[in-house]
Order: sequence, then C-alpha cells, then structure tokens
Amino acid sequence: MEPLSPTGYASGDPIDLATAEERLALPEGIDSDLVEQIDQDGLPLRQWPAAVAELYHATVTSRLYQEGHFLFLLGLLTCLATIVVDVLINPAMVPEGVALRVLAVAPLTLLGLMAGTRGWTNLLAFCVGASPIAFIAVVVHLAVHLPPDLSPRYINATILIVGLANVMLPYSLRGLIIFDLSALVVAMLMLVLGGVDFATQHLDTIALFTLVAGATIPVASQFESLRQSNFLLTLRAQCAGRELLEANAALHTLSETDPLTGISNRRSFERQFETDIVAPGFNGRIDDRIALMMIDLDHFKSFNDAHGHQAGDSCLKLVAKALVDIFDEAGGVVARYGGEEFVAALRVRDSKEIVAVAEDVRRSIATVLTPVSESDRSLITASIGVGVAPASAMLPREELIEMADAALYSGKDAGRNRVEVVEAEPAFGRGG
Ligand code: GH3
Ligand code: MG
Ligand code: MG
Repeated sequence: MEPLSPTGYASGDPIDLATAEERLALPEGIDSDLVEQIDQDGLPLRQWPAAVAELYHATVTSRLYQEGHFLFLLGLLTCLATIVVDVLINPAMVPEGVALRVLAVAPLTLLGLMAGTRGWTNLLAFCVGASPIAFIAVVVHLAVHLPPDLSPRYINATILIVGLANVMLPYSLRGLIIFDLSALVVAMLMLVLGGVDFATQHLDTIALFTLVAGATIPVASQFESLRQSNFLLTLRAQCAGRELLEANAALHTLSETDPLTGISNRRSFERQFETDIVAPGFNGRIDDRIALMMIDLDHFKSFNDAHGHQAGDSCLKLVAKALVDIFDEAGGVVARYGGEEFVAALRVRDSKEIVAVAEDVRRSIATVLTPVSESDRSLITASIGVGVAPASAMLPREELIEMADAALYSGKDAGRNRVEVVEAEPAFGRGG
C-alpha cells in the first residue's frame, strides 16, 4: 500500500516538525486582500495561489503531528480493550487474539509514535492509517475462526472502525478514499485467506461497509472545507495584524524622519539623545562628557537668493549626508533641527575629541559645495556652537541646547565658519 499523504497532494521529502513550524510563519507575498479574495471566490484548495496552499499544507502537517500521539494512543487502547470482547465471546481465542494485536497493531503504533518524534511525516501519515487497517485484519482473521452465528459481529465491527477512522483521521478526501479502499481490500483478503467466499457470505457486509464509508466521507469532507475556511480566516487575521504592524512601523519612521534630507528629525533626535547618548552613562561610563552641537549654515538666505531654492534644498541634502557620515563614524547622533540648522550629540571619553569632531564637521561642510573653477573657495560654510558637560552633571538637553546656542551666536558674531565651545566646566579649547 502506498504511504497515505495527509493532505492528498504529492508530498516530496519528509517535512520535519521544525520546518513545518517555520513554514507557518507568514511568507512574503501573502496579504489580507489576497486571502479575502480566495475566501470570497470560494476557490477550491487546488486553485489557491501556491504560497497560500503551501502554508495550508504546512498547517495540516502540523495538525498531523499534534493529533498523531492522541490517535495512536486511542487506537492502541481501543485495540487492547476489545480483548474483553474476545473473552466474552470465545475465551479460547484470547491467546491468539492478544498475540495478533501485539504483533500486528502495536508495532505500527510504536513506529508511528517514533516517526512523530523524529519528524518523519510520510511514515507518520502511513502509520496513522495503517494501524487501524492492521486492527481490521486481526478482527476479520478472528471472525473467520468463529462459529457462523458469531462471526458477523466481528465483521461488522470493522465497519465501525472505518466509520470512526473516516471522521477522525487527518487525511484529505483522496487520502480517506485510499484508506477505505485499502481497508476493504485487506478485509476481503483476510476472508479469502480464511477460506470464506465473501461474495456469497458477506455481500451484505460489503454493502454496509460501502454505505458507512459513503456516508462518513462527505462528513469528513465537510470538516475539511470547514478547516480550510477556518485557515483562511486565521490567515487573514494574521495578515491584517502584520500589515498593521508594518503600517505602524512606516508611520513611526515617517514621524522621525526629515522629509527633505531623509535624516532624523528633531523629534527623533530628542529620543536618540536619551537612548544613545544619555543612557550609556547608566552602564558605568559616568566619567564621559556629553557634547551637543548646533550647526547653522552661514548666510544661507543669500545662498538661496543667489542660486535658487532648489539649489538650497540640494545643498541641505549634501550637508545632511556629510553630517551623517561623520556622526555615524564618531558614534554620535545627528538630525535636522529645522530650516538650515542641524543638531548633533556625542558622548566622548576625552574632551579633545569633541573639538576634533566639530572641526571635522566645519571642514566637511566647507567642501560640500565649491565653484567648479575655484576648488578652494567654499560656496557654503557653517558655524558650530558646542555645549559640553560631564555626563555625571546630568544636564537636561534644553540646557545643553542653550549653551550650544550661546556658542553658536558667539561664532556668528566672530565672523562665521567657526567652532565655538561653551562648557559647564572651565573652558578646555576653542576652534575657528
Ligand atoms: P546666518 O549666517 O546668520 O545664519 O544667516 P542665514 O541667512 O543663514 O540665516 P537666516 O535665518 O536669515 O536665513 C535662513 C535661511 O534658510 C532662510 C530660508 O530661506 C532658508 N531655508 C530654511 N529652510 C530651507 C529649506 O528647506 N530649503 C531651502 N532652500 N532654504 C531654506
Ligand atoms: Mg538659522
Ligand atoms: Mg544660518
């Protein structure tokens, strides 16, 4: 008998449990609109888009693993419990009945349980169906050796097994049909081997078998379509959840980004100042210094007047990029504060580092735009005011901004294109 595929589709390599769980994570390309469309159109599984169908098969595989244990234990217990029926009907056949159950059904159950723990999907799916069929073989074999008035009771019991299995086994419609046909063939084979002419003696049983199988398979099929609708509903909810998260993330990025330059905005700076600059002090780096820089482009109004606002915008973008390069390397944070002003913050061990970085910023901005003919003349410069305080002083951001502003105005007054520093402690240096 070919291994029964739990989903009725051609299964390739065995899927292990971890892979099945991994596949349950939503892959790209599936969104709530797509799932809603499948649901609304009432598409059969074979017409679902490949990614959705694959996800469904993965959930079926995972259900097989979840239910496998329960089905095997229930099947084995039922199989052993029916020994009581042997005792009541014909005590003489109890030893043979016990031996057959232990030799035919128990190994398939154990093999199935092992397949479940090892993640051997195909073997697990096979054993889930093969163990009730082995039980049917045992029951029919015992029936053959019973007196004619008792044997139909056993034979009829096989119909009950098939009916229950049809409702409980996690197979697709195709899988269930294969299961039922296999059960019928095995039962008839056992009758023939026992010398019984089933065509004359058990035609009614075969008719009843077909009736029960025919009646329970549509119930199983109904369950299957309910499972598919339920899957689509859950998937839609998952997609909607993911889309909400993505929209939220996009909105968050948007709310923290300056639309012109694409770098952080003032709001983002305020958050990063706390998380990236102030917070590391809580990890023992209390001797550090914190510097906040206000970077203001010089005579930017005149630049706009001379070159146009579009050129002004391009200039702001180039300056923003230069600043991000410098502060990324220095481990600081930088943002567009507004207009032609940028703000940056840095946490350093040594005070000299601050002046060095500020000077680097000043020089970089001065080389952002130069006339083609005179490469040493700057088209744009910036004045930089720096407020510095020991991290241990825990100065609020607003106070550092005030210090940086004061330094900036003093730089502007002193002729622009300069770095000025205001310290919370005695001054340690000054650039320009
Ligand atoms: P100072 O050296 O004293 O800072 O002179 P300034 O001209 O740079 O300063 P002022 O505050 O007088 O002018 C700022 C200019 O920056 C005026 C405004 O047109 C320009 N500006 C602000 N935001 C933008 C922008 O997004 N794009 C462009 N192109 N220009 C901007
Ligand atoms: Mg300004
Ligand atoms: Mg300016």
